[in-house]
Amino acid sequence: MPITCPACNKAGQTDAACQRCGCELTHLHEIVAAAATRLARAHAALTNRDWSGALADAEGSWDLLHTAESARLAWVAAAAVGDTPGALRWRAHAAAIAQPHP
Ligand SMILES: [Zn+2]
Repeated sequence: MPITCPACNKAGQTDAACQRCGCELTHLHEIVAAAATRLARAHAALTNRDWSGALADAEGSWDLLHTAESARLAWVAAAAVGDTPGALRWRAHAAAIAQPHP
């Protein structure tokens, strides 16, 4: 998954080093990949009606990388386990990412 270089903001970086500034990006790519893995596990848990497992993995993915998808998945999973305050918090996270402030 492409990332934006944190040093110079060059988007679309897929290599170990930034094409513009040479910043080492290997660890950031590993974090993004780990977040994607947790998100895939959350999807699988949701499919299997393992609501608490889905919530834990969605939260784990969010901890690594804040994405609208991880927030929405945590929102659904929190609602499914009956955690209304948690569901509302995740809904707010999802809305904030979907409509970021300039
Ligand atoms: Zn850079």
